Amino acid sequence: MWRIICAVAACKAARLLLRIGGRGGTALPGKVAMKFAASILAVTSAGMEIIAVTGTNGKTTTARMLEQAFSHAGKACLSNKTGANLLSGITAEFTANADFFGKPRVRYAVIECDEGALKQVMPLLRPKVLIVTNLFRDQLDRYGEVMHTLDAVRLGVKASPETILCLNADCSLTASLAMDVPNPVLYYGVNEPQGDQGEVRLSDATHCIRCGAPYEYTYHTYAHLGGFVCPSCGYRRMQPHTAAEKILRTDVTGTDVTLKTRPPVSGEEMRRDIHVALPALYNVYNALAAVTAYTAAGHPAEEILAALRDISSSFGRMETFDLQGTPVQMILVKNPAGCNQAIEYVTGTERDYCAVILLNDRTADGHDISWIWDAEYEKLCADPHARWILVSGERAEDMRVRLKYAGAAKERVTLEKDLAKLITRMKESGLPVMVLPNYTSMLALRSALVKVTDKKEFWNM
Ligand SMILES: [Zn+2]
Repeated sequence: MWRIICAVAACKAARLLLRIGGRGGTALPGKVAMKFAASILAVTSAGMEIIAVTGTNGKTTTARMLEQAFSHAGKACLSNKTGANLLSGITAEFTANADFFGKPRVRYAVIECDEGALKQVMPLLRPKVLIVTNLFRDQLDRYGEVMHTLDAVRLGVKASPETILCLNADCSLTASLAMDVPNPVLYYGVNEPQGDQGEVRLSDATHCIRCGAPYEYTYHTYAHLGGFVCPSCGYRRMQPHTAAEKILRTDVTGTDVTLKTRPPVSGEEMRRDIHVALPALYNVYNALAAVTAYTAAGHPAEEILAALRDISSSFGRMETFDLQGTPVQMILVKNPAGCNQAIEYVTGTERDYCAVILLNDRTADGHDISWIWDAEYEKLCADPHARWILVSGERAEDMRVRLKYAGAAKERVTLEKDLAKLITRMKESGLPVMVLPNYTSMLALRSALVKVTDKKEFWNM
């Protein structure tokens, strides 16, 4: 017992000191706690009802949707909203919020977990529900590792066999998790084609994961997602329990969807038109994941649907700033599939804008930035509404070359590495600004922007 008391006290003290020092450190207090008791997370999360979210894209937004549902319903809920999604960060969150004997003080939690960390986190956390949003390759230096990631996720799932899995039915990689795990499984997906069905798609999964034959598709939604069928062994998309039957309308304010779901607890089928107050198809997937998980955990569908109607976007993923009258929208881009979706959204707004692309190559971004050659910047450059394109970040020159080959005229593109000057230029554009940064460049621009807007540093949110 003394180990637990020491671990909790050390964690709380470390967190307090970091905050007094004005630092947003999120992992260190967890590491300190684990020095005293390695499995402290199992203690400080015991008896809680937890929904965990993993997968390449959409973790943060999906977690934020669930968190809003809990908070709207007046159910106190813990979350790791600052993006500390490895074992140490998750441990810090639970431990700092427990009482001094390590007993949890709230009943519910929504936790975002890195795919690679899942195998360490799952045996300690034992969530009631785990969402796997999708699996894409992240950066080119991790190419081929998508199978490695899938194996890591599978190990995590097996370590908590009672956890209900919510899987993206349209992602052949994600859905394959159901094959050899004992867990109960629910699927979600989009039931109709989206986008141009004839176009050449960026695919991270062209061949059957079971037998290696090339997939056939009855329809596509985006990237490798859609109605996949293996003509050789019969592995195919499963009928989802929660589905977008039809996407009725989509614009910058959000999407109207005909939702069909059969919550496992009530067992009554529900079919209804709902509004998701976030734009873009990938947020429809995030919403479907959230509905599936929330109802699977036994909560009323009404609560999550209310949250989706007025969801505010999550830190960095799709965040808006008011830059002294200039609207700035920031969409985190970290891989070709996510980048294409962001470009799809930005070019679909049908009004003039200033695009800002930031590219860094630090460890958290992946050192190899050649993935930018796989993303469809051609589409952005071909959009007449993209009046001005600013490039920044440590690898801004590479991005400028990429845009040149994507067909952007020289006078349309400006390189500005200094973030203060970049912000001045954004204001001077007189246009709404659409920012597509990768991870560390997003953090840098965000902290420069909070100095000139009224947003808070993210650890004070
Ligand atoms: Zn097959």
